[in-house]
Amino acid sequence: MKTIQSLFLSASLLFCSQAAAETSTDGILITNSNLVDVMDGKLLKDQTIVIQGNKIIYVGSKNNAPEGNWNNIDLKGATLLPGLSDSHVHLTSNANDHGYRRLAVSTPRSAINGVKNANKTLLAGFTSVRNLGAPGYADIALKEAIDDGTVIGPRIIASGPSIGITGGHCDSNLLPFEYKQKAEGVADGPWAVRTKVRQNNKYGAEVIKFCGTGGVLSKGTKLGAQQFTQEEMSAIVDEAHLLGLKVAVHAHGSSGIATALNAGVDSIEHASMITDAAIEQAVEQGTYLSMDIYVSDFILSEGEKAGILEESLAKERKVGRIQRERFQAAVKAGANIAYGTDAGVYTHGLNGRQFKKMVKWGMSPMQAIQASTIGNATLFGTQDMTGSIEVGKYADMIAVPLNPLNDVTELEHVDFVMKDGVIYKNELSE
Ligand SMILES: [Zn+2]
Repeated sequence: MKTIQSLFLSASLLFCSQAAAETSTDGILITNSNLVDVMDGKLLKDQTIVIQGNKIIYVGSKNNAPEGNWNNIDLKGATLLPGLSDSHVHLTSNANDHGYRRLAVSTPRSAINGVKNANKTLLAGFTSVRNLGAPGYADIALKEAIDDGTVIGPRIIASGPSIGITGGHCDSNLLPFEYKQKAEGVADGPWAVRTKVRQNNKYGAEVIKFCGTGGVLSKGTKLGAQQFTQEEMSAIVDEAHLLGLKVAVHAHGSSGIATALNAGVDSIEHASMITDAAIEQAVEQGTYLSMDIYVSDFILSEGEKAGILEESLAKERKVGRIQRERFQAAVKAGANIAYGTDAGVYTHGLNGRQFKKMVKWGMSPMQAIQASTIGNATLFGTQDMTGSIEVGKYADMIAVPLNPLNDVTELEHVDFVMKDGVIYKNELSE
């Protein structure tokens, strides 16, 4: 008996000393990496990066790296990039719960979905996201659980419930009148929408999302039809900006886009039918265009199986191609392009598939990578701490074996993921 006890004792001592040995290193030294410098738009060969705690403290040649007792990670010539970012996701939604199926998903269940989807998103190399629209502040709860270490996932900037007009894209229009169904973010009139902005701010939203036109997946809404008047949109944006929050508008049709631009929104989501004049205005104002040009492939191939309504499929058939052409025009005009994909409409963890589309429709691989790193960080207002691998920033980085500047589809499977100085995945050293 004594022998068994002492065996346990020595085993636990061994674990303790191992843990102590690990924590007693000064940090992590990454060697033998080719680094994508998104600030200068170039690839830097054979770089060494030193991470202490959750911050980057050195980037440069191995010879000049600071002395220390480092945990050395040899990347074996892999390409190292800043953690990727997606400006438009719905972590609490699953891609197979569309149409009427969504009515059967409770808010607690959507929060549980969020736990799984956040994990998949981080392991796909996306270390930060904006979650634009979730029921019952489930996205804020998820963010808090990630930040305190309860759950593994990306950094989240969450909106809470989307704000929208009665019967609009951000309402729930599936059931007949007698059910009196109404989405949480529904408000009509300038003061009512200001109240919704204040309420979202009260419960932890860090960005305001509202619907400025009809949408593909909502029942009975028209893509071209504007939702909210100028007065209402201006009230939303004014109130959000007073509170220090940025505003993302869902908008497909040109009149909704124009009105939202006049109201001063920070990003236009989808922007499918944006006119040349509106692109010009967006360039002048520095407004970001978050155009989800991959998702159409999923909707048209898997959408029916996933429960998407026939009227939604018909809308997507019309708008998918137009959006890609308008994306190309926006790139040509030099607009600020965010990397936003609407993950949740399609399967989480496949966020990297949009890179290929963005390159096909006019961007260089470097531009697409910049959009998903420093570009999104600038839109999020976190560019001082995320979006590039530079001294003083958070240690959020990923690696892939080959060079994504030659073939951007490399980013569809990421082999190394670090967030906040913690390694969550390393398949390079196997
Ligand atoms: Zn969305």
